[in-house]
Amino acid sequence: MSLSEIQSRIADEERRVGRAAGSTQLIAVSKKQPNDRVEAVLKEGHRVFGENQVQEAAGKWPEFRDRYDNVELHLLGPLQSNKTRQAMELFDVIHTLDRLKLAKRFGMIRDEIGKCPDIFIQVNTGAEEQKAGISPDEVEAFVTECRALDLPVIGLMCIPPVDEEPSLHFALLAKLAKSNGLENLSMGMSGDFERAIAQGATHVRVGSAIFGERPTPAQ
Ligand SMILES: *Cc1c(COP(=O)(O)O)cnc(C)c1O
Repeated sequence: MSLSEIQSRIADEERRVGRAAGSTQLIAVSKKQPNDRVEAVLKEGHRVFGENQVQEAAGKWPEFRDRYDNVELHLLGPLQSNKTRQAMELFDVIHTLDRLKLAKRFGMIRDEIGKCPDIFIQVNTGAEEQKAGISPDEVEAFVTECRALDLPVIGLMCIPPVDEEPSLHFALLAKLAKSNGLENLSMGMSGDFERAIAQGATHVRVGSAIFGERPTPAQ
């Protein structure tokens, strides 16, 4: 598959479900992809990318940013507290706020550096033991705490359990966002982004369907 094919599938789905053309942002997830594949997508004119790790992103994006204007970078993976400052300097949007301690750190560092990325709160819609995210019944209280810290929370994000119908999780996330007055929904990946758009996704995170399978690291 390719960038243009994914773009046209997004446009088709927006049309099919009666959404405005262009109301879904495509985040091209470049984690673990070879630089030549990433550069090919930059050369096609795409500028919105997602990465999973602060370290990996810090290793490749400053140089791409020197050579391509208006790159917008999204952090999609878990954020360790000791990487918060670096993440806030590197990323335009962070999708994985999942605990109060981190929210407080965002507020503290924002006061020092004078800027803060836009923030999505990650919700563990499947209540999975091992997965990051605020549990659905704690979202309202957590949003309130983030607002008290004056953080730029713009929406909710989820990664549904692999063995369940994602549409149910997307619908739950949409309901939680609406009841908390949040406009953006980060949901949908290569295998289910059309279903996410049908449920109101504003940001879909698509990796392998654009770039090809991620190469497995050498042993
Ligand atoms: C890797 C990843 C994606 C993209 O996954 P694909 O299946 O390659 O599209 C999306 N969101 C998150 C949080 C990811 O870690």
